[in-house]
Amino acid sequence: MLGIIHLGGVLDRTPRKNVMKLNELTITQAREGLQQKKFSSVELTKACLDRIKQVDGKINAFVTVTEEEALEHAKHADKLLNNITIEQYNNYPLLGIPIGLKDMYMTKGIRTTAASKVLENYIPQYDATVVTKLKNAGAIIIGKTNCDAWAHGSSGENSDFGPTKNPWNIEYVPGGSSSGSAAAIAADMCIASTGTDTGGSIRLPANFCNVVGLKPTYGRVSRYGIIAMASSLDSIGHFTKTVEDCALILNITAGNDSCDATTPKKNKPDYTESLKKSVNGLKIGIPKEYFEIGLDKEIKEKTLKAAQILESLGAKTVEASLPHTEYALACYYIIVPSEISSNLARYDGIRYGMERTNFGDEAKRRIMLGTYTLSAGYYDAYYKKAMQIRTLLKQDFDRAFEKVDVIISPVSPTPPWKLGEKVNDPLKMYLSDIYTITINLVGIPGLCVPIGFTKNELPLGMQILGPHFSEETLFQIGNAFEEVTKNEGWRKKKPVL
Ligand code: GLN
Repeated sequence: MLGIIHLGGVLDRTPRKNVMKLNELTITQAREGLQQKKFSSVELTKACLDRIKQVDGKINAFVTVTEEEALEHAKHADKLLNNITIEQYNNYPLLGIPIGLKDMYMTKGIRTTAASKVLENYIPQYDATVVTKLKNAGAIIIGKTNCDAWAHGSSGENSDFGPTKNPWNIEYVPGGSSSGSAAAIAADMCIASTGTDTGGSIRLPANFCNVVGLKPTYGRVSRYGIIAMASSLDSIGHFTKTVEDCALILNITAGNDSCDATTPKKNKPDYTESLKKSVNGLKIGIPKEYFEIGLDKEIKEKTLKAAQILESLGAKTVEASLPHTEYALACYYIIVPSEISSNLARYDGIRYGMERTNFGDEAKRRIMLGTYTLSAGYYDAYYKKAMQIRTLLKQDFDRAFEKVDVIISPVSPTPPWKLGEKVNDPLKMYLSDIYTITINLVGIPGLCVPIGFTKNELPLGMQILGPHFSEETLFQIGNAFEEVTKNEGWRKKKPVL
């Protein structure tokens, strides 16, 4: 089996320094290798499956591994690869490439649990729109990834299938709720993966696992067939090893879907085009409210240093202000449970799923909170007030974007914490979402890119935020940062497992 490829792209069967294993490749590298017949999709898929067998006992990134189906589809992809022209190949941007799907994505014939006992044995009748799009692009579904049950959480510990561990140090949380998808990329168990982000669930785990994570603009990617958490905030995004790969996947997943009325019929650019653009002249806002007390010193320094690096490329940084930030957390934790209590009402144990007693503590807490804030007499006092604040938060960003092109901020106030540290104190856990939740209340996009490691060797990232539908600018900046730091030592690190 051709399990190893030389960094320069030359096939090499003998493991030695500077060689990459197939499962470590990016999408772009894997595509190139497959096209040039340096290896097959079956070999690439096997390399990922072997890696899962080797390390997932420690990490718990997957709820379900679809080995048989994946190998079957890889064989099919290899046949196609052998029989199509280059032009036809371009219609399959993910042909033969193994990806993981958060277990919130409905997959026809493949168990989909939302990491909850309620859906432990649920097998969907249809694929989510995004799953169909990824399959049509030629992707190989290698398995369903672990997450906080129903995507409620920030650490991955709310999963009914056991917590996912951080590949960089298995005593620490990988961030949640899309914990398995981020850990699977960090540990090279697949080439890319998908997530959902309602209040940070893509950006936080990307930040804690040293991978790239995108929360697109609300409505840019269809939510159809993805288990709903809070429908007016749910965003459908993904994890990759590079910004380029991230743009490539958005090219596939973005766009109008007649099954989701919140996806506008808006022109879809080629997102990879923006990667080539310079950041010279772009204005970057540094929101003062996101750098105040409560923010870890190392995170503050590293994030500001990242902004300085972008300045050295010709971007300009200016102070920005988001004055209603202090109300965001309270606003989010009223609106989100309200929508959750309504969305989870459908799991009545009659039509599908197990009895409601199977809901875990966090889901029950949110159902109760949401039912309370929506009930007569309390609706005006809580839900309506929260919705008014939501408008103020949106106006904060509208005003800020009149002066700057993007905003750069930390993703989390602290580095990854130890497993068990916050799980029994929901309020403490909620506070870790302070920099991510507002973005979902406002509906704008956010890209998380790695910026280095703490003294304790734990990963850190920053988020780049822009106005609605500004994903191109986010990729432009993320890619420029990645390029200029590509020779730094931390870029070459791999978790030791
Ligand atoms: N941590 C947040 C919450 O628990 C975000 C979850 C998410 O984005 N799915 O609500």
